[in-house]
Amino acid sequence: MTETPMPMPLPAMEQAATSVPPAVLLANHLKALKLPTFVREYEKVALEAAQDRADYPRYLLRLCELERIDRERRMVERRIRMARFPHTKSFDTFDFAAQPSLNKALVLELARGEWIEQRRNVIALGPSGTGKTHAALALGLAACQKGLSVAFTTAAALVHDLMEARDERRLRLLQKHLASVKLLILDELGYVPFTAVGGELLFEVLSQRYERGSTLITSNLPFDEWTSVFGSERLTGALLDRLTHHVHILEMNGESFRLASSRKHHKNKESCKMP
Ligand code: ADP
Ligand code: MG
Repeated sequence: MTETPMPMPLPAMEQAATSVPPAVLLANHLKALKLPTFVREYEKVALEAAQDRADYPRYLLRLCELERIDRERRMVERRIRMARFPHTKSFDTFDFAAQPSLNKALVLELARGEWIEQRRNVIALGPSGTGKTHAALALGLAACQKGLSVAFTTAAALVHDLMEARDERRLRLLQKHLASVKLLILDELGYVPFTAVGGELLFEVLSQRYERGSTLITSNLPFDEWTSVFGSERLTGALLDRLTHHVHILEMNGESFRLASSRKHHKNKESCKMP
């Protein structure tokens, strides 16, 4: 093996190198290089490498792999924290048979996240209890797991936040954040009608995201009733025009899952009483 000459150490480093134990110096360097998994694992992996007679490149490779796996896990956790989901739901617990109007193949395709890279939108429509929020949370979680930035909020909460930010003169900052996430999830559009200002502020956010990022909206109202939420026909028309330009619609018109399961529960209780 040819020896590569070591670069001349800086005087301060030279001094430190002579007085500080190498393990301490190494931990310091690894921390500065932001390699926490190296710090934690290098001794253990060295022992394993010695046992397996793995050479230096293989030893380094194992450490690099561990660091990358850990880094990805931390990144996904950070995405999930920043999304502010009210709770975590996934498609593992979603019963597609209970919602036959929903296109299962499309939903599973959406869970792969490519629609977000393509800056398309998703609108889930259906009455209360049909799993719209569950599906939205699951799609949001899937996006986080792909490393994409997500923000989850209800339409009413977002309008409230926008109005508050406007009053406190930090509207631009909030708008900038809302425009920057890859996926904005707006749950429950339609339950609460907005004031004229509220509707305009929400319209502005959605316009700013047009063709720049994906938006997922859930609503209990069919499109022709959205005017009742925004107040203005002109605004609603312009909004729908932008939102539905590149859109996947999820029709969730089945029975309420809550109602169906409580009915099943009661039925079971009844049949338990039978002699
Ligand atoms: P919506 O947002 O349409 O009103 P939710 O998503 O809040 O409905 O669903 C109500 C409850 O029923 C939630 O706890 C949700 O997890 C559950 N749920 C709804 N649909 C399904 C389904 N198809 N499979 C499993 N759980 C479901
Ligand atoms: Mg809901």
